[in-house]
Amino acid sequence: MTKETMQFETEIQQLLDLIIHSLYSHKEIFLRELISNASDAMDKLKFKSQTDQSLLGDDTELKISIETDAKERTISIIDNGIGMTRDEVIENLGTIAKSGTKGFVEALSKKDKGDSTMDLIGQFGVGFYSSFMVADRVVLTTRAPQADSAYRWESKGDGSYSIEECDEARRGTRVTLYLREPADDDQDFTQEWVLRSTVKKYSDFVTYPILMDIERQETPTDAEGKPIEGAEPVKKVTEETLNSMKPLWNKRKSEVEDEEYKEFYKHLSHDWNEPLATIHLNAEGILEYNALMFIPGQAPFDLFTPENKSGMQLYVRNIFIMDNCEDLMPPYLRFVKGVVDSADISLNVSREIVQHDRIVGKIKKNLVKKVLERLAIMLDKERENYLKFWEAFGQVIKEGLHNDYENREAIADLLLCASTAGDDLTTLKDYLGRMPLEQKDIYYITGEDRQTLIASPHLEMFKDKGFEVLLFTDPVDEWVIQGLSEYKGKNLKSVAKGDVDLQSEEEKKGNEEKLKAVSDEFSGLLNFIKNSLDDKVAEVRISQRLTGSPVCLVAGEHDISASMERILKAANQPVPPSKRTLEINPNHELLSRMRELHRSQGESDDLKEFAELLYDQALLTEGSKVVSPELFCNRLTKLMMKAVAE
Ligand code: ADP
Repeated sequence: MTKETMQFETEIQQLLDLIIHSLYSHKEIFLRELISNASDAMDKLKFKSQTDQSLLGDDTELKISIETDAKERTISIIDNGIGMTRDEVIENLGTIAKSGTKGFVEALSKKDKGDSTMDLIGQFGVGFYSSFMVADRVVLTTRAPQADSAYRWESKGDGSYSIEECDEARRGTRVTLYLREPADDDQDFTQEWVLRSTVKKYSDFVTYPILMDIERQETPTDAEGKPIEGAEPVKKVTEETLNSMKPLWNKRKSEVEDEEYKEFYKHLSHDWNEPLATIHLNAEGILEYNALMFIPGQAPFDLFTPENKSGMQLYVRNIFIMDNCEDLMPPYLRFVKGVVDSADISLNVSREIVQHDRIVGKIKKNLVKKVLERLAIMLDKERENYLKFWEAFGQVIKEGLHNDYENREAIADLLLCASTAGDDLTTLKDYLGRMPLEQKDIYYITGEDRQTLIASPHLEMFKDKGFEVLLFTDPVDEWVIQGLSEYKGKNLKSVAKGDVDLQSEEEKKGNEEKLKAVSDEFSGLLNFIKNSLDDKVAEVRISQRLTGSPVCLVAGEHDISASMERILKAANQPVPPSKRTLEINPNHELLSRMRELHRSQGESDDLKEFAELLYDQALLTEGSKVVSPELFCNRLTKLMMKAVAE
């Protein structure tokens, strides 16, 4: 097949322009990225070869080599990993289909250029493309195991790339960078010591050897190994391993430097930023394993898509077994990045077996406990970090209230909620601490935004009483809250559902009679409104929760709330039929006037219109839509016309 020239997708080219023209610092990370790709490629091959040994062929020693040519000013990173087919090369290195880059470009268009770009590059792992930070031409040759041909990809990062078949018998990938002339303060990546120190800094723990030919001048030795005096030194080339390969997680905690943890995290997560927390466990005893886990500081762009899988890797005695191991971390902790290594698991474990492996199950249980404990410490002692964490992953961790019954209490302790007590988020524990003695339950309301909720008529009596109400505004909260009916012995109650019981026994005694008297007084009007709105409301009753507004709508204790109804409608989901109760405020002048009108005129058309308007008002104040905006406006106009005419 002949050479084909293809255009990069627009977004890739934009990205390349940015890399070439805007990134001046940390240029050495290109090496980290290419080594990381090579290491991933070998992990993939290793995983596949577990079920198909023939993929490895004779070439069983997986390794990464670095070659340089100071004269040509090139550096090559070579691996014998999974390689790529022609289609894969085009897909991975030319199109936006690869979601990481897509998310990066999208995020980039929303952010200012400058420093933040570096953060983004880390977060989305532009990986391979970082080569163009130091090179003006990149050539990649690659061969997938048992493929018929090898391919050569080449680009100058100027809008197009070429691809053609090539002669390359070895499996794996070779990336050759044609380096630009280094600027004054740039490092020269053809220099041995520059490469050596860069590998040491960023890739020391990579589990495959990173090899390089090292040239030395040596004085010849005699048969006994003694230097021959006066002999001319000769050039000797030896292959050296640049990285220690000692997996960080298998070291003792005390042996690891903070910097090492941070670099390892970057290698593992492709996140340029530092993790919020590091958890290193060396478990001994009945169950022996080492685990190194990190809590990232920001959410990946695809946190809520099915592509977002567990961030855990499984090793058995230093040997990589699998990535994205969902059986080590439940989905609500999928943001945790880490590695688990246990000698107790069989080396031949497959994805299917892991699922049912008792030891893996036990390790998972411990890991979850440790992560939740670490988060509790962060909440307690590192509040600023915890707020960052909550902003990034709060929505995800809430899923655990539904899915992890065993740890529900610990997860509930980690919740942060908005509340009527102030602008800061609060924990449930702090809420309990502020609860007045006479308050029986924990109160909450759900809806779209804080402003609407704070203004909701449902809160009036609670405000008057000085009872704090939690404001849940995440779409998932509706569902989450169903998984949390009580906290430390106190029930969680919606202020927009069912009866409210805010009175002390004493207050109740006095009020019962009063309530009966008011209900009797208003019974005519209540019946009338009920008949007028028969198709819309289940009941009309005197309110115990309104103090300022004339009306509100209340759901039954076990019915879905208005905000859940809105969420279902927005998602085009069927909404279970349910009528709510209209509560009226007998102390509001409008209602007493309506009662008089009802007494004097009976069932007039005007009163019927008023009833409809009251209902629509109740919908609007809680943040719902009126059923017919047209009818609502017509009624309002009619009323205004009347007032103007008087
Ligand atoms: P990332 O590594 O973050 O996925 P890159 O842009 O670095 O992003 O690489 C894109 C894709 O190209 C990788 O996901 C991988 O599928 C493929 N790739 C890159 N380098 C190699 C390699 N050395 N061997 C095999 N595949 C590779």
